[in-house]
Amino acid sequence: MKIALLTRNPKLYSHQRLITAAQARGHEIVPIDYLRCYMNITSKKPDVIYHGEKLKGFDAVIPRIAASHTFYGLAVLRQFEMMGVYPLNESVAIGRSRDKLRCLQLLARDGVGLPVTAFANDTTRTDDVIAMVGGAPVVIKLLEGTQGIGVVLGETHKSARSVIEAFHGAEVAILVQEFVKESEGRDIRAFVIGRRIVATMQRTGSKGDFRSNLHRGGTATEVELTQLEKTTALKACKSMGLNVAGVDMLRSDHGPVVMEVNSSPGLEGIEKTTKADVAEQIITFLEKNARPGRTKTRGAG
Ligand code: ADP
Ligand code: MG
Repeated sequence: MKIALLTRNPKLYSHQRLITAAQARGHEIVPIDYLRCYMNITSKKPDVIYHGEKLKGFDAVIPRIAASHTFYGLAVLRQFEMMGVYPLNESVAIGRSRDKLRCLQLLARDGVGLPVTAFANDTTRTDDVIAMVGGAPVVIKLLEGTQGIGVVLGETHKSARSVIEAFHGAEVAILVQEFVKESEGRDIRAFVIGRRIVATMQRTGSKGDFRSNLHRGGTATEVELTQLEKTTALKACKSMGLNVAGVDMLRSDHGPVVMEVNSSPGLEGIEKTTKADVAEQIITFLEKNARPGRTKTRGAG
């Protein structure tokens, strides 16, 4: 196969692993900086142009689009889809998962367990919004945050109120969520590839931090999931329409609750913690599935 790897930084651990795994299995893999691509949007022959040349002959595309460049990155990925190149994850599915509110709404529709979550645009109703999720302490999140940045704990009603008002004042979209304190600063990640869970880990936040993100100093260990946790993770991935995802869950008193579904999950934490060869399994998934024109949505919807 000839594989395009959409990335701004091929040197990152995850990208290096994908490059090595693809080459080890006899494939050609080309890192492409999607911000340097430009496109020709015509109905007959869509093209992506890179360094002055048309990109041709690709069988599959692995999108690794940074959260800060979702808009342009997804437009480039869509163009590949219209050219009939098979995407590891489709642009539409990535778009669903990147917006936390849209993601939670779709999960709720499909009956996946979630933390009680509220969303409002109107600061005159802040007290109500806090009460809706069970009162303080509450978690306040930016809709498009990542790596734990933009996730704040409002410990008292008063502090929650000021944080919510500050975000609204700055015209930043947020959601307010029940604080699952019984998870005690831990969460679990299930790494899913094509309807199968291939690796799982539990992350624990650094001392005094309720956020367990590895980027925030959290540590990880391998963990065994319950049957319910497994089905929850697979269901969450399916409702996003993602082939590959890192599903993050909390162990709450009312069962597993999904916080988010990551469409470009990092490989370093999960591979080093579990010793699973996740990169190779991603490449073998493409070997089985990448056929011209097999994209479900072709970027529409
Ligand atoms: P990000 O996209 O920035 O990683 P998350 O929604 O995954 O944002 O939240 C970051 C971390 O904060 C989670 O991994 C978890 O440890 C903690 N966290 C998030 N939401 C809650 C919640 N409702 N209750 C308890 N802890 C939470
Ligand atoms: Mg997270």
